Amino acid sequence: MSTPTPAKGRILIAEDVRVIAFKMAQALQGAGYIVETAVDGEECLNKARQTLPDLVVLDIMMPKMHGIEVLKTMRDEHRTARTGVIVCTAKDYKTEHDEAARLGVFDFLTKPFEPALLVEKVDAFFARRGGFKGAPEFPTPIIADEVQPATFTPVLDLTRLRYTLWGTRGSTPVPGARFLRHGGNTSCMSVGLGDEQFIFDAGTGIRELGFDLLNTTRRKLHLFITHTHWDHIQGFPFFAPAYVPGFEITIYGAEGFGKDLKSVLRGQLDREYFPVQMEDMQSYLQFRHLAENPMPIGSALVSWEFSQHPGATVGYKIEIEDKKIAWVPDNEFLQGYTGPPEDLTRDHPLVVPYGRMIDFLSDADVVIHEAQYTCEEYPKKVRWGHSSVSNACVLMKLAGVRKWIVTHHDPMHDDAFLDAKLQVTRQILERLGHEMQVTHAYDGETEYFR
Ligand SMILES: [Zn+2]
Ligand SMILES: [Zn+2]
Repeated sequence: MSTPTPAKGRILIAEDVRVIAFKMAQALQGAGYIVETAVDGEECLNKARQTLPDLVVLDIMMPKMHGIEVLKTMRDEHRTARTGVIVCTAKDYKTEHDEAARLGVFDFLTKPFEPALLVEKVDAFFARRGGFKGAPEFPTPIIADEVQPATFTPVLDLTRLRYTLWGTRGSTPVPGARFLRHGGNTSCMSVGLGDEQFIFDAGTGIRELGFDLLNTTRRKLHLFITHTHWDHIQGFPFFAPAYVPGFEITIYGAEGFGKDLKSVLRGQLDREYFPVQMEDMQSYLQFRHLAENPMPIGSALVSWEFSQHPGATVGYKIEIEDKKIAWVPDNEFLQGYTGPPEDLTRDHPLVVPYGRMIDFLSDADVVIHEAQYTCEEYPKKVRWGHSSVSNACVLMKLAGVRKWIVTHHDPMHDDAFLDAKLQVTRQILERLGHEMQVTHAYDGETEYFR
């Protein structure tokens, strides 16, 4: 037994010659329509009023009531005023044809006609009507082949400067349904142009970037580490290009207060923690401590500035083409301040020590910076190295930032919480009178520049 398909529409055929009516009904039923018939004008009008069909196929020459009279009456009555009509006439009935057209019909059929033509016109009626009563009829633009322009198929221009946020979580990765929209990978961003690849931090997000790079021709990679807390290095052992000969990876970072950068990265690959060691990495790895500022690297200029965070932590700014992108995922601006944000001017004694960071961000086109704690959470987290939302807003205002992407989301903050937190951020900026674009970063977020 086959499942019945839903009917395409209900049609009333008004035709006094029974054999013609039968053939018409048969063709339309075969095409999936529900069909009833009327043998004269009166019966047609009564059925149209009672059963309210979608479409009436109306013969003009009929006993008892002329087709034009039927049509006039239908148009005058509320319930049938908008019922679709296809009129069937013989060739020479021009007056009737014009009158029917004036009263509003969908189309005409000139007798005699093939059932296939009837089905075609009925199909066209239902296609235009969209099957929804009372819906407006949108005209279908039919453009002849010779005037139709080539099909418009825009393609993404992959040669443009772009950045991608591969990991936007702070502290520790968080998998799970409540974190789907923002993502759970820890800090990592890439900036790419042509054959050049700049990478900022090596949190778990770098793993995905690694697989992406294997499919490109990019082999010269520059990896800038802000500091060596877990959430900024723990993806490195899973960074596939490190194991592939032909990749040349230069890793930059501040000189730590204890171990140097190489020792820290090597340490997390110790046998006690990981099955593969740094010596097994087949790429050409080199390490550079930050000294020169700014550093010209390829077509980019990379500068750095110390941020307020435990240990030797920096933020970076990359200038490439005519764009400047700042990456400062960990920065406790105005450490310990829990008061309102309005009164904090550039020359306020609490603000003065942060002048260099304010200047550092002031010319960036995009600032990717944290605001990890809500104002309620912050008093318990002072000196943990992260800003309260309102203190981060003050930084954006004082630096005159116009586009801020908030990153380093707290692992305790799920998607719904972050949505609400973003609204609070916008309200604080409004209160400060600082108009700017602010969004929450999410894993995989990519922007192409013009
Ligand atoms: Zn961090
Ligand atoms: Zn940290």
